[in-house]
Amino acid sequence: MSTMIQNRDGHPSGLDVVVVGAGLSGLISARVLRGVGLRVRLLEARERWGGRMHRRTSAAGIPVDLGGQWVGASHHRLLALLDEFGLRRFPTPYDGEGLFHWNGVLHRAGVEHDFAASMLFFRPGELGLPAAELEEALTVQRRFQQLVEQVPPQAPWDTPGADALDRISVSHWLECQGAGDLARYPLAWLTRMGGSGGFEPHESSILHLAWTQAVAPQHQAPEAWLVEGGIAQVSERLAAELADLIELRMAAVSIRQHDGGVSVGCADGTVIQAGAVVVAIPPPLRQAIHYDPALPPQWSGLLQRSPMGSMVKVLALYPRPFWRERGLNGLGLGNLPTLELTVDSSPPGGPGVLAGFIAGERAVRWQRLPEPHRRQAVLADLQTWWGDAAAEPLDLVLHNWNAESWTGGAFTSFLTPGAWTSYGHIWQQPHQRVVWAGTESASRWPGYFEGAIEAGLAAADQVRRLLG
Ligand SMILES: Cc1cc2nc3c(=O)[nH]c(=O)nc-3n(C[C@H](O)[C@H](O)[C@H](O)COP(=O)(O)OP(=O)(O)OC[C@H]3O[C@@H](n4cnc5c(N)ncnc54)[C@H](O)[C@@H]3O)c2cc1C
Repeated sequence: MSTMIQNRDGHPSGLDVVVVGAGLSGLISARVLRGVGLRVRLLEARERWGGRMHRRTSAAGIPVDLGGQWVGASHHRLLALLDEFGLRRFPTPYDGEGLFHWNGVLHRAGVEHDFAASMLFFRPGELGLPAAELEEALTVQRRFQQLVEQVPPQAPWDTPGADALDRISVSHWLECQGAGDLARYPLAWLTRMGGSGGFEPHESSILHLAWTQAVAPQHQAPEAWLVEGGIAQVSERLAAELADLIELRMAAVSIRQHDGGVSVGCADGTVIQAGAVVVAIPPPLRQAIHYDPALPPQWSGLLQRSPMGSMVKVLALYPRPFWRERGLNGLGLGNLPTLELTVDSSPPGGPGVLAGFIAGERAVRWQRLPEPHRRQAVLADLQTWWGDAAAEPLDLVLHNWNAESWTGGAFTSFLTPGAWTSYGHIWQQPHQRVVWAGTESASRWPGYFEGAIEAGLAAADQVRRLLG
């Protein structure tokens, strides 16, 4: 049965804008559009808001972020929201030395705060790795950085040699550099753990990886701050403010455009009329919506080539940050079988928290393991880095984003080889009255919260221009 939402002046629904998706981006769009006096409805498929910005209370009694958690040093929009909501932040603890695991050996070194001069955050000279291999790794990084500097952030297809660079996978580019295992690792790590994240070096082009660093540079410290009580409080505050606009368990399944407006069909049969629609959901999920008129072939081509990364978030909670007693800072990297990274995320004066990730092919293999083996695999790697105390956490939270059907993976989507140069030109263009938001649409910091905010604001601007 279908329901047409009507409004009091007889114009069906009387809404100006429907926003699809109550993640950070959709929440921001809805807030701005309501703020300028437009009538807005925000549709959310899940029974909760926040999307990839979501927390829960751990068995240890403290709230932990299951999705994103860090705020970047230059994430001004997000920092302003934290200030507006009076949320307290603290610097990510990096004092002391971290551990780099390489081929069965642990190398201990301090953090080099200039990422570009580091071997993946570490002071190269302190790692005790073979000097020639280390030099090769730093040379390959410098060549990659030279490439990043040639990528126009708004138009990666205009990079000199773009056609060739978009057809070469990251792995192939590394082979062409004659890079050995250690020299390949930093870029392989960036594909799995950089802000885009969750993909393997053979899955995307060197042009795409270079673009991710042009628009969201790791050297600008995107993991500078943490938020007391969890960053997901931001989406909770926004949702509380917009409570009267949000419809939960309301998945958009169709968007029909007609003279002067749009009709948004929902899974329960409800049809909502408005002047325009903002679609603030991850790119692969946009394809699950039926569009009439259909999306132009350029758009469907791009969406078909935008899979989500594979990502599992790990949070290990301990009575205290015991690693600090050995002068260690909780930063663990290297080629272990399951975990790709740990970072000290302990709140000041609180329990010890190590946040970690299983990414890319490791995540795909891990989710095929039977349940008890999954936990064991994570604990084994934690123990390799941080010793026996790490094997007995108060709580071990394992959140598989690949299993969340309303997200489909994480951190974000990436483009397959050739997609930027064949289809990329339209990546931010609206489809008439369908305007795109979501972090993947951002010009700066796509894949991050900051990008989600930027894209939400940009979509609100486009809607205002559309509705005149
Ligand atoms: C494990 C993990 C770690 C991360 N770490 C960080 C970090 O430390 N710092 C950082 O800045 N970023 C981080 N990120 C990325 C950050 O979380 C995202 O960039 C941001 O939250 C995306 O917000 P969004 O609104 O664009 O999309 P989403 O949060 O995905 O919101 C989209 C919403 O749309 C809903 N939806 C989907 N389809 C429909 C439909 N058809 N109808 C209605 N609703 C629909 C979904 O349920 C969801 O609520 C991380 C993400 C993950 C998963």
